[in-house]
Amino acid sequence: LQAPSAAGLIWQVIRNGEAKTPAEREAVLADPGFGNHFTDHMVDICWSEKGGWHRPRVSPYGPISLDPAAAVLHYAQEIFEGMKAYRHADGSIHTFRPFENAARMQRSARRMALPELPSDIFIESLKQIIAVDADWVPSAPETSLYLRPFMFAKEAFLGVRPAKKVAYYVIASPAGAYFPGGVEPVSIWLSTDYARAGKGGTGAAKTGGNYASSLLPQAEAYEKGCQQVAFLDDAGNLEELGGMNIVLVKRDGTLVTPESPSILEGITRDSILQLATDRGHAVERRAISLDEWRSGADSGEIVGAFACGTAAVVVPIGRLLGTDFEIVHTGAGASELALSLRRELTDIQYGRVEDRHGWLT
Ligand code: PMP
Repeated sequence: LQAPSAAGLIWQVIRNGEAKTPAEREAVLADPGFGNHFTDHMVDICWSEKGGWHRPRVSPYGPISLDPAAAVLHYAQEIFEGMKAYRHADGSIHTFRPFENAARMQRSARRMALPELPSDIFIESLKQIIAVDADWVPSAPETSLYLRPFMFAKEAFLGVRPAKKVAYYVIASPAGAYFPGGVEPVSIWLSTDYARAGKGGTGAAKTGGNYASSLLPQAEAYEKGCQQVAFLDDAGNLEELGGMNIVLVKRDGTLVTPESPSILEGITRDSILQLATDRGHAVERRAISLDEWRSGADSGEIVGAFACGTAAVVVPIGRLLGTDFEIVHTGAGASELALSLRRELTDIQYGRVEDRHGWLT
């Protein structure tokens, strides 16, 4: 048992006797890819309607035993987060804006009728897993330890109502450089047969169903030779990609990004737009119709676009393909802007420049 944390919980730490050997770990860290390998431990905390948050624990990574009637398996009452821990040159390990992820998870929890995990417990849960699995944070350029907090309804009950028993977990997965050969512009398929979110739906929550519903249009994107899929809302306004936000670049350097109640508010986007504002770029957060992008690309008013999210950070969009049209952005200027903002953000994350906004924990 460890001393009570700031949040007043007493953490139990059970070390994994069958943890990977240093040699096995180093072999994984030499080429981790994304989402394939997991560290030796995981965090879990129980919640019940009667007892609140209790029994926080670090234990050996492994399968979870669930009652077949657990509500999550039937009604998808589930949320998650995604963020990274970065190793700096001096060996120290930093997370990026974790309080934003804590707050977003609370918003997701509210929408999915799950209990809100207090921010200090969320932050403590990250510290606990990073402390015990610190050797799993890789140090090669552009690598990181991806952290996946998640929460689900575990009560065994088939009635449709919010579960009275919930589990929160954190697992961690070493991540390699997303673009080992350098960042290349991507092609995006614009899905018009399928929507990701509807008015009043769950689009702003990070909940599994949003991702399940994006798989079929994503498969369509691959068939069309595109790497990602973009979605519109009911009114024909641009929303986001399956797992990244979109930003358009205007000729005068203004950055325009969708504001919508049904997209996931990306922490990468918010950070990139802050850095752009610091450089003197105007930033507009508003509804953007597909027509505005098409006509702007034709007239030269919109010179490029990029997508942003934790995994890939920033990637220029070279092409948007629809059923009956195509937008091609070949101008170097917008790509260069996207890549220089990407560079500035990763310089902060990896501690290569001063953290002037106080984003690292
Ligand atoms: N939109 C969706 C649907 C996502 O899944 C993500 C990734 N979390 C993002 C946007 C980008 O969010 P962030 O920058 O916080 O990773």
